[in-house]
Amino acid sequence: MVTMHLLRFVEFVSDSLLSVAYPQPCSLCGSNVESHDLGVCCQQCWQLTTIFDGAETVCWKCGVVTSGSISPVRVDAARCHRCDDQSFTAARACGLYEYALRSSALQLKREAYLPKRLLSLLIATARRAPIDAATRVMPVPLHSERLKSRGFNQAAVIAEAVARSLNLPLDDTSLIRSGVSDKYRAGLDAKAREDTVTGAFSVRYPALVNAEDILLVDDVFTTGATASSCGQALFDAGARSVFVLTIARPRH
Ligand SMILES: [Zn+2]
Ligand SMILES: [Zn+2]
Repeated sequence: MVTMHLLRFVEFVSDSLLSVAYPQPCSLCGSNVESHDLGVCCQQCWQLTTIFDGAETVCWKCGVVTSGSISPVRVDAARCHRCDDQSFTAARACGLYEYALRSSALQLKREAYLPKRLLSLLIATARRAPIDAATRVMPVPLHSERLKSRGFNQAAVIAEAVARSLNLPLDDTSLIRSGVSDKYRAGLDAKAREDTVTGAFSVRYPALVNAEDILLVDDVFTTGATASSCGQALFDAGARSVFVLTIARPRH
């Protein structure tokens, strides 16, 4: 009896040790990840990743990197105009959806944990203009079915950490997701999927959103459709601005 308990205890301890054991293989190249802080990728793969430092010329609104076609006279006047119809004030990402940022975003769907490197990039991005004007942090809500199967909302993991670091109130209850389920959406093509996001969000407590500058947090900015749909609901509830913060975005 005692031996059995001891055995279980030993198993428990070795499992715990294994989960923090380093070095672990990089999820991209297989070489050793030098530090726990780097998450699932090695230093080399982090170096291959395009990380924004605030000096690049981006569309002021959607944050897409613009290449030389826009006059550098006023960087904040740079606009791609493809995002003109989207309902948010400005969106920024830590970098491109590639290498270490892509792996880190995918890992965050499996494990509710933000490695130090990723968190510091998110904080640095959130502290840059124009999104540094935010007064309240809100995650993009996950559909309830998805939340049940995953057990956590990866956007909420980011929002919590960012709110704590920036000393801003976290609001993960005002914005709610309704609309059709992901299961239904999975059978649709990209355009139809985008259409189903429209009107999928609403604000439960408009008084908490009214006249606020919201920092809407999601893991990845893809077409901007989700951010825009949340933004529409937030603006309808009286938000003054809707800033969007994500780990990564596509190059175009
Ligand atoms: Zn690597
Ligand atoms: Zn744009």
